[in-house]
Amino acid sequence: MATTLSNSFSSGDSSTAVIIPSKPHALIVSYKTLSAEISSFQKKLAKLGVTPQAAVSIALPNTYEFIVAFLASAWQRGIAAPLNSAYKQEEFEFYIDDLKSAVALVPKGSFEKDGPAVRAARKYQAAIAECYWNGQEVVLVVKDEGKLKGKGNQKVEQAQPDDIALVLHTSGTTGRPKAVPLTHRNLTRTMKNIKATYQLTPEDRTMLVMPLFHVHGLLAGFLAPLYSGGSVIVPPKFSASEFWDDFITHKANWYTAVPTIHQILLKNPPPQTKPNIRFIRSCSSPLSPTIFHLLEETYNAPVLEAYAMTEAAHQMTSNPLPPGKRQPGSVGVGQGVEVVILDGEGKTVPQGSEAEICIKGENVTRGYLNNPEANKSSFTKDGYFRTGDQGKLDKDGYVIITGRIKELINKGGEKISPIELDNVLARHPKIGEAVSFAIPDEMYGQDVGVAIVPKSGQNMSEKELRDWVSEKVAKFKIPKNIYFTDNMPKTATGKIQRRIVADTMMKQDK
Ligand code: ATP
Ligand code: MG
Repeated sequence: MATTLSNSFSSGDSSTAVIIPSKPHALIVSYKTLSAEISSFQKKLAKLGVTPQAAVSIALPNTYEFIVAFLASAWQRGIAAPLNSAYKQEEFEFYIDDLKSAVALVPKGSFEKDGPAVRAARKYQAAIAECYWNGQEVVLVVKDEGKLKGKGNQKVEQAQPDDIALVLHTSGTTGRPKAVPLTHRNLTRTMKNIKATYQLTPEDRTMLVMPLFHVHGLLAGFLAPLYSGGSVIVPPKFSASEFWDDFITHKANWYTAVPTIHQILLKNPPPQTKPNIRFIRSCSSPLSPTIFHLLEETYNAPVLEAYAMTEAAHQMTSNPLPPGKRQPGSVGVGQGVEVVILDGEGKTVPQGSEAEICIKGENVTRGYLNNPEANKSSFTKDGYFRTGDQGKLDKDGYVIITGRIKELINKGGEKISPIELDNVLARHPKIGEAVSFAIPDEMYGQDVGVAIVPKSGQNMSEKELRDWVSEKVAKFKIPKNIYFTDNMPKTATGKIQRRIVADTMMKQDK
């Protein structure tokens, strides 16, 4: 049984592992070629000076070079830290500094352009290397050795099950995003759980539409299919107009996505040739029963909603394949993961009562990096992880999520921290006070609203505010609705409650 990413797929297999649907010719990579490519890239990382458990920040989009760099970093006992390549400099700085990254891997041309990831890496003396496919192999071109200067020519390592393979950050409801370390054992457990849940085999082909810098795309869309011996089609990014063409051309038979993407695809239906879909998986934010039924009718395939989080290396629960029962509005049952509903004292509540969803399993992180406080409050004395989500079990034991205990803004599966936005806004010279919150949105489920109290005597336009935000954070975090007010609602003790602010502002809207 595989317990590391280095022995989780067959290296001698000539069947197809990865398809990059570039035009006019797709790049088709067998398991054998992929393994050889990863080994060769691992040697390049060793030569650069990557030592066991050094962090490798990977600021590459969904590409073949991402796949190779990610797996090679983990094989070399490094800690792979994928980052959204669309981040701005401040965001890169935060993540590179938080992990004390040894290296930042960036796309070709970034160094000459002095892009935001390059500037951030230089600030923290991480080595900077460009990675790209040159038509024959994935090359690594070292541009700046940073703190790895003189540390080159390390030996090639063998990953161990309890090594950290991956670190991803949560979206940070309580201030700083928390760094979640996931070991090879955590990841391979999820890969096995997902393979079992959906009965994945080498016959299956999936279209990857989610980014590889989140657990959803990385685990469910990529690693679990590879572990099952199937093929993964990896377009550079989600394109509604090309999705079905690639899906049909490369004979995909399932995909996993957030509800927002399902909705976009429903508006861009497949052409005459109906694809043969075995199942569709939905995860990361609530799928409304209306969309569930619409999807099943349109594609004539079972839609399986799952529930996942970073700390669980993605999947915790899922609705089962037929003949198992699918329950719209529910996220299904624990899949290789124990799921219980516990009160504040860590005691199980009666069936049907709402309390905190808690989990236990080999997939669950052993605790956040450098965050003893969060580790103390996140685990019960019996070792259950507190998800921060409120929920209940129905009479069949299916989990129903009833709300988030936290107040993160979930924009179509992209999590936006209101505190991060507040902090960016509060730095504007004309802003006295800023509170961000979720507003309902038809397309994304939620979007960003902000309440602003301008400093006295200051006049601020919506454009000024959006320009300020867009210089500092990724585009998807720019507020949709801006409410100017001279009175921010507060509790008796002077604290801000985002829900109350949101309700007060939205009432003014009417
Ligand atoms: P933070 O830990 O900083 O608060 P986050 O929990 O939002 O961030 P993720 O790990 O990306 O970051 O998201 C996990 C959360 O997403 C879950 O705890 C849950 O609230 C939500 N979620 C996942 N799947 C579903 C689903 N099917 N339905 C409803 N919510 C879901
Ligand atoms: Mg969370």
